[in-house]
Amino acid sequence: MNLDHSPDAEAYRRKVALFLDNHLPANWLGVGSMPPEEQDAFRRTWRRTLQQNRLLAVSWPVEHGGAGLSPLEQLIVAEEFTRRGVPQGGLNDNASIQMLGGTLLVYGTEEQKRRYLPRILDGEDVWCQGFSEPEAGSDLAGVRTQARLEDGTWIISGQKTWTSYGHLATHVFVLCRTDPDTTRHRGLSLLLCPLDQPGIVVRPLQTMTGEADFNEVFFDDAVCDEADVLGPVGAGWEVARTLLGFERGEATATLAAMFRDDFDQLLALADRFGRLDDPVIRQRLARVYEGVEQMRCSGLAAVTQWLAGKQIGAESSMHKLFWSEWLQSTTSLAMDVMGADAVTPAGPGLTGVTFPAAEAGALRDTGTWVDYFLRARAATIYAGSSEIQRNIVAERLLDLPRNTS
Ligand SMILES: Cc1cc2nc3c(=O)[nH]c(=O)nc-3n(C[C@H](O)[C@H](O)[C@H](O)COP(=O)(O)OP(=O)(O)OC[C@H]3O[C@@H](n4cnc5c(N)ncnc54)[C@H](O)[C@@H]3O)c2cc1C
Repeated sequence: MNLDHSPDAEAYRRKVALFLDNHLPANWLGVGSMPPEEQDAFRRTWRRTLQQNRLLAVSWPVEHGGAGLSPLEQLIVAEEFTRRGVPQGGLNDNASIQMLGGTLLVYGTEEQKRRYLPRILDGEDVWCQGFSEPEAGSDLAGVRTQARLEDGTWIISGQKTWTSYGHLATHVFVLCRTDPDTTRHRGLSLLLCPLDQPGIVVRPLQTMTGEADFNEVFFDDAVCDEADVLGPVGAGWEVARTLLGFERGEATATLAAMFRDDFDQLLALADRFGRLDDPVIRQRLARVYEGVEQMRCSGLAAVTQWLAGKQIGAESSMHKLFWSEWLQSTTSLAMDVMGADAVTPAGPGLTGVTFPAAEAGALRDTGTWVDYFLRARAATIYAGSSEIQRNIVAERLLDLPRNTS
């Protein structure tokens, strides 16, 4: 089996590498090596540079500001950018570009595409995902947020929760029940709604990392235009599934590059702490490396399917299980390598050892191995918990009876 890319793809890789050589400062060591107070400004400027060079949404059509390239080129961009420690986007672009942008291209009207896609790329609109509710997380079909149409305006009431970056976003795509006489998967619609309005209150939730990246969002007669429904009214479930496919699917292809980078840094960490000859640590490092290679093969298989015009489907659940558990075991190993030094204020875990944090398909962030370890706890919950992924594997891939619990 030959897992090398084609000569054309390798030529594209050289082009991307040259772009990075030309646009990154001399002696570049990665965004994590910059002083924290300079990182935000760098990220903002870098995002603009990517947009100007059509590298933000590589696989979007050219007429919508993309580069019109295939998922293979997208994978190559991810690999090269990861290797050099530079982000592939900016604030919540995972929700704005990958999830909403991808879905707008499938379901959006021409008017919606013309209106929203350029504003996403310009960074004028930053979107967040309004799916989960206090009583509807895994069981998303249980959403209770309602929207009714009055005189050409949708009026929305209800509550969303765990809304990542809701406090910084300008808009939310919100899954609502638009037909009050229905239950479960029917009668839902996906509405595109501005956040800055009297009918919306966003309340940040603090997590154990000390950050408040996600929020509760309260809708009290919030409004959006009648035309701001994505896909047919009442078909929100299908639209939401497509959107979740973009959330889970793309990660399968692009995470392998990030894992390789994490592994290299973990190896360097173990070396620095003099743990490379510890027999147990060696076994665990080998295990982590097996995962890197396994992820590389899954990524290539995913790209191959995309290139053939096929959706990854239920297999993406297996991949999600794999990468989320890999993140947790790998970051746990980093903690064991460092031992008590990980939590000593002056220790290298908190000060000297930075890394690009890997929040499953999201932006590359910076922080320490301790931050990474803490953030990785959420990986088996977001984008569908492990139990839910296993139910999907059981039902759709193994044909087992439906879970009724
Ligand atoms: C870091 C992070 C960011 C997030 N960002 C967003 C966001 O931007 N927008 C958004 O809408 N949501 C977001 N979420 C929410 C996420 O989608 C939900 O947390 C997830 O779907 C689980 O829902 P829940 O928290 O309500 O847990 P529940 O659904 O209440 O589940 C609780 C536990 O029960 C298990 N369980 C539930 N049902 C079953 C079943 N049928 N069989 C077996 N076990 C089951 C679950 O696996 C879990 O362990 C985010 C979550 C995290 C952690």
